Amino acid sequence: MPDIKLNSPLQYLKGVGPRKAEVLARHGMDTVRDLLDYYPRVYLDRTNVVPIAQLKVDEYATIIGEVKAHGILYGKRRRYEVILQDDTGGISLLWFQGIRFWERLFKKGQKFAVTGVVSYFMGTQMIHPDLERLDENSDRMVHAGRIIPVYPQTAELTKAGLGSKGLRQLTSFIFEHLTEKIPDPVPAAEYKRFSLPTLHEAVAGIHYPESRGQIETCRRRLSFNELLNLQFFVYRNKGQKAAIVKNHSYQKPGEKLTELKNQLPFELTAAQKKVVREIFSDLQKQRPMARLLHGDVGCGKTVVAVLAALYAAENGLQCSFMAPTEILAEQHFRNWQKPLEVVGVKAGLLTSSLKAPQKKKTAELCAEGELDILFGTHALIYDYVTFNRLGLVIIDEQHRFGVEQRGKLYAKGDNPDLLVMTATPIPRTLTLTLYGDLDISTIDTLPPGRKPVRTVWRAADALPNVYGFVTDEIKKGGQVYIIYPLIEKSEQMELSNVEDAYAELSQTVFKDYRVALVHGRVKAKDRDEILRRFRDKEIDILLSTTVIEVGIDNPNATVMIVENAERFGLAQLHQLRGRVGRGAKQATVVAIAHKPISEIGQKRLEYFAAESDGFKIAEADLMLRGPGEIFGVRQSGLPELRTADLWRDRDLLEGVRLLLERLFADYNTLDKNYLKLYNYLNTRAARMEINLGGG
Ligand code: ADP
Ligand code: MG
Repeated sequence: MPDIKLNSPLQYLKGVGPRKAEVLARHGMDTVRDLLDYYPRVYLDRTNVVPIAQLKVDEYATIIGEVKAHGILYGKRRRYEVILQDDTGGISLLWFQGIRFWERLFKKGQKFAVTGVVSYFMGTQMIHPDLERLDENSDRMVHAGRIIPVYPQTAELTKAGLGSKGLRQLTSFIFEHLTEKIPDPVPAAEYKRFSLPTLHEAVAGIHYPESRGQIETCRRRLSFNELLNLQFFVYRNKGQKAAIVKNHSYQKPGEKLTELKNQLPFELTAAQKKVVREIFSDLQKQRPMARLLHGDVGCGKTVVAVLAALYAAENGLQCSFMAPTEILAEQHFRNWQKPLEVVGVKAGLLTSSLKAPQKKKTAELCAEGELDILFGTHALIYDYVTFNRLGLVIIDEQHRFGVEQRGKLYAKGDNPDLLVMTATPIPRTLTLTLYGDLDISTIDTLPPGRKPVRTVWRAADALPNVYGFVTDEIKKGGQVYIIYPLIEKSEQMELSNVEDAYAELSQTVFKDYRVALVHGRVKAKDRDEILRRFRDKEIDILLSTTVIEVGIDNPNATVMIVENAERFGLAQLHQLRGRVGRGAKQATVVAIAHKPISEIGQKRLEYFAAESDGFKIAEADLMLRGPGEIFGVRQSGLPELRTADLWRDRDLLEGVRLLLERLFADYNTLDKNYLKLYNYLNTRAARMEINLGGG
């Protein structure tokens, strides 16, 4: 019998050979260990299978049935349809890609186990589900009540005979003949604390679990290691930054700051004063500031950042102030240029849509040190933009930028101070994970006199009334946003789209009003022009996708309608809501839900209507749909999570944090096993060469 080791190349495994090895390698699998790290996506087990008639929309479910019919459907978009049937009913399975492949795969009468998300459009359907062909053999496994792994599939794997069944043959063969255990870097006391198994048991159990419960325990053990790796980056980065001494220094705050504050039409709130103190005290320190300014939409972060920029200017330093959209950068510049000029500080603006000579001129002034504060978009990152003495980097709506972009701007200075801002409230559990290497300042109150936005949700059949409300509001001098999930019609998703809505509404209910349209595919220049006209009250109703989500400040906009609100996440709905209620007038948000609404969708809308606190919304969002793109885990530059769920596994996260605190604090007196863990994590982290937080 073969002697299989963890680092044995897959190519020489029984039944693999050069061709399959090549395909595996293209999926990141060269050795036995790599294949064991390819975890099943779902499992087949009888208890898990739902009769087709009992499927619920938005549910993630497995069904078992027979192919009744299959073929290409023609329409605006070609698609392949399979009608699958069990004793209770039928469902339509749809593929928009790989039509030729599916055409060859399916035969009438074949039996499949199918896993996917249930949706509804003229009948129950699943789009691009996972498939598992059930032959005699696997059928027996299913009926014997065994839980069998279903591996993530790609067309290439299936073609090469490495479908779920093929991969199962390999993994079960490996576990039979593997002569060594997967080494466990974590000392036993650490995972025993959470009643978790060894790493080897966890990997074996994730492939071939004995019970459903065991899958979860194994998943948690793998998550523990995943979280440990993730958090290690953050701690390591923090340690590296602490060792830097900056080349510039700050005097006590001077006259200019007082003069600017005197010009403001309002008094800073206590929360704003507190964070200004925190930032100024950081700036006066020897090591560069790395601070996240965090606060709900509309809480007034900009003025705080501008005061920091002015403090830098007072000390002979330049500041770059980057925002994610042209309209936002321009808005900052226009609001602050004059007040800054009054106190003798020169501001500039650099965006891509400026004419070339103008860009060149601004870049020159900046390079010579003639500009103190340069506002701008991604345009600031380009090589032709240089600074004479960049001391402070400010990044607004930082979650909108990639790590690399932040890093490029940061590198234009000599260890400058860094202030990043976000309007997305981040729950504490996540702040520590994603931003553990940043110090955090929070503005926890809104400026006085804000009326809370009235929020309601309505079913789509209430739209005529809602449109009536819109026109009443405009007659009273207000302006309105209507938000759509899609730009144009899609055959895959039965959702409203902004182009059709514009074509229709501007000719019918709103034909007597000034209606405009904006979305991500409108050229930046035209988009800014439309937003300018909206702000200058030359437009009554702005139909838009979520491109207007961040930063836009039009205090006269009092109503927002969100179409297909059941499709948006809570955090995003809240972010959108932040666009209204920025002035003294009462503002209203109407979330429109289209049928069918899932239970969770409805819960989300009820919560959204009832809660206005962004932090609570963020926690609820995390709970209702898990993290993911909403909090920019992906953009944060951290390794992606495969098994861990930051909300469900928050106890593990806390355990991991305490473990790391100990590893870093007592490095010199660490026990041998812990020193080994530290070195293991450090080697891994160094290999991944990830650079966080701009530095
Ligand atoms: P965000 O934190 O979302 O970036 P902004 O900085 O855009 O919020 O501020 C929102 C609005 O609140 C702006 O119009 C700003 O002028 C105003 N504002 C900021 N601070 C105060 C304050 N202390 N009192 C009254 N209004 C304020
Ligand atoms: Mg802002």
